[in-house]
Amino acid sequence: MLTGQNALVTGASRGIGRAIAIELASQGANVAVNYAGSEQKAQAVVEEIEKLGVKAFKIQADVANESDVKAMMKEVVSQFGSLDILVNNAGITRDNLLMRMKEEEFDQVINTNLKGVFVCTKAVTRQMMKQRAGRIINVASIVGVAGNPGQANYVAAKAGVIGLTKTTAKELASRNILVNAVAPGFIATDMTDELTDEQRQGTLDMIPLAKLGQPEDVARVVRFLASEDANYITGQTIHIDGGMVM
Ligand code: NAD
Repeated sequence: MLTGQNALVTGASRGIGRAIAIELASQGANVAVNYAGSEQKAQAVVEEIEKLGVKAFKIQADVANESDVKAMMKEVVSQFGSLDILVNNAGITRDNLLMRMKEEEFDQVINTNLKGVFVCTKAVTRQMMKQRAGRIINVASIVGVAGNPGQANYVAAKAGVIGLTKTTAKELASRNILVNAVAPGFIATDMTDELTDEQRQGTLDMIPLAKLGQPEDVARVVRFLASEDANYITGQTIHIDGGMVM
């Protein structure tokens, strides 16, 4: 399905990013595994991907740092020869009620989760324009559509990602660069491990399918959006949330 395609997944050393990197590789794509934290975990993902018979390498970069990101894009194009699929997945949370939220908690989340998507998208655009083809898939969140108490910073960033997705989709359509977003609900990863039992139960009560999603549930939709099957879809945000937000 993706044989011969070259992909970069940000924040791919664990969780949803890891599942996306492996899913794209399982369909034949070569994958650059971006990481900011554990090099060991990123290396483990690279080794898992190589076992699938495609190329992979790890690359450290802070997605919010423009010079890091420019260097990363240059390295990916130099190793793979092109960059066909960018998945903007890296993200963080710094939850707090609005009245208690510190300015730095707001700034950190906006920087990584929103500015990071802008910086990576801008950096890949010239290459994709030259190729006259490309897929950009942004990992937003359903809270960016519905809001969520205690996450003003995160919700603002994810709503921003949905807006950025629509605008870049319109700007880049004439060059055959398709830009879409996925909006996961509650997915079982390190990010949601932090939920208390009470919060977890409260969450399950709000999900019609009555279970948390798995990283692979998100990865399969990203793989679809990266594939030829999705070549008349752009500017959309697909909810992957067990029916939580309709
Ligand atoms: P996670 O914390 O397991 O993974 C996030 C990854 O991003 C980590 O590998 C981390 O090192 C990386 N990262 C953080 N800051 C970075 C930076 N500045 N530069 C590069 N990498 C950076 O979380 P996850 O649940 O796998 O989340 C992945 C994405 O999915 C995030 O954008 C998150 O907001 C989104 N999401 C998650 C859920 C969920 O329920 N888990 C729901 C909706 C959206």
